[in-house]
Amino acid sequence: MSTDPDCIFCKIIQNVIPSSRVYEDEDVLVFKDIHPSAPVHLLVIPKRHIPGLSAVTAADQQVLGKMMVVASQVAREAGSTDGFRTIINDGRVGRQDVLHLHMHVLGGPTPLGRMISRDEKTD
Ligand code: AMP
Ligand code: ZN
Repeated sequence: MSTDPDCIFCKIIQNVIPSSRVYEDEDVLVFKDIHPSAPVHLLVIPKRHIPGLSAVTAADQQVLGKMMVVASQVAREAGSTDGFRTIINDGRVGRQDVLHLHMHVLGGPTPLGRMISRDEKTD
């Protein structure tokens, strides 16, 4: 299993840094975001260190598919039975802060705000 010794999410996988785990299998880990943006805010990550979505290859297809299936399961188990949102930020333009691929799962009892404001400045 490939890990990066400087990566905060690899340290969470290895239990070097604590987290609130909600799901784990041999390929995928899910834990609560430390700064939640919604009543349900989970992070779904591959156990193998992949820097981001722009770095994936065909060899990652299976784990990427599993992340989607797990995201749906954990969202509903966390109480988001009437819908939720997934977000994968990538790179500088996508405002990715942690360079280990992760899928945000956001939900709660009430509808979320719009994803990106339509009149947001584009420069
Ligand atoms: P992104 O901006 O897409 O890279 O999102 C990174 C996310 O990781 C942010 O929502 C952070 O709140 C979250 N985060 C950073 N450190 C931790 C940690 N130690 N435990 C849980 N979530 C974290
Ligand atoms: Zn990592």
